[in-house]
Amino acid sequence: ALAEARAAHIPVRHDVTAPGAREIRRIAAELRVAIAEEQLFLAYQPKIHVRRQEIGSVEALVRWQHPSRGLIPPGDFIGAAEEGGLIDRLTIWTIERAIVDQQRLKEAGHDLRIFINISGQLLADQVFVDAASRLIMEADAKLGFEVTETSVIRDPSSAIANLQRFADIGIVIAIDDYGAGLSSLAYLKQLPARELKIDKLFVTQLTSSNRDPLIVRSTIDLAHALDMEVVAEGVETHAALALLTVMGCDMVQGFLISRPISLDALLRFMEEDRHQSVSRDTRATFNA
Ligand code: C2E
Ligand code: MG
Ligand code: MG
Ligand code: MG
Repeated sequence: ALAEARAAHIPVRHDVTAPGAREIRRIAAELRVAIAEEQLFLAYQPKIHVRRQEIGSVEALVRWQHPSRGLIPPGDFIGAAEEGGLIDRLTIWTIERAIVDQQRLKEAGHDLRIFINISGQLLADQVFVDAASRLIMEADAKLGFEVTETSVIRDPSSAIANLQRFADIGIVIAIDDYGAGLSSLAYLKQLPARELKIDKLFVTQLTSSNRDPLIVRSTIDLAHALDMEVVAEGVETHAALALLTVMGCDMVQGFLISRPISLDALLRFMEEDRHQSVSRDTRATFNA
């Protein structure tokens, strides 16, 4: 991995808390069981369309309800899944669950696109690309894929070709965590992406920092120039929402609107939204 990262000029993180090979094998072994025994579930976080003041789509975020260790966040096991050769299976599971959940939402009268996070290594995995495409086409599911630019830089030609294949079957491609990893305007221009998600790094301190508003504003303008819609992640305050609205940000996502929630909670959230666009509180900010 080190040699590969150096060859690609990817900075290697020397994280003292990073799990060793043994720990990765242990997590991967337990994860194999977790997938088979349905210990995983998806939490959903709405993305709100600022101008229309309505829920535009939702992002699925995987969670692991471990029988003895409790609730484990994805940051603690996605890396092990990638290194342990399990990320393909985990992601297929995620897509299958999202398809089932989307059907339940549809039956309740909610037509929502569900975005799934796709690890970079899968964009070079032809077996995965074929399996995922077949699954989604057969279900006629309305999905989106969130990918980071860093993941594209590893093997740009196959990543771009596969993203195009996904886009061709109606999957909306979003660039995740924009600005936090390796950005290249050369790739940005070539990616068949319709959405650009500004990393929460620039959003959570938006109204208390001098530079973040400048970075966010220019990123919004850049994305619009490239015909992409902009999503700000990590919107935690009314002040940030108000500023993003003035800057022309298209969509917002964050704890202010909703934390990632269970499917049942999402169904209740949608029901409330039907009667009263978003929450009254948030709406007041939109209209301010
Ligand atoms: P991400 O895709 O960038 O997801 C956003 C993360 O920010 C989520 O953390 C979410 O809970 C958190 N977040 C949302 N709103 C706010 C906010 O207002 N303030 C703050 N401080 N945080 C907020 P989570 O759920 O722990 O996910 C972490 C990362 O794990 C995700 O980052 C994504 O890269 C990865 N991930 C999650 N699910 C999957 C999956 O199914 N497959 C893969 N490959 N990766 C996944
Ligand atoms: Mg994401
Ligand atoms: Mg993100
Ligand atoms: Mg992130």
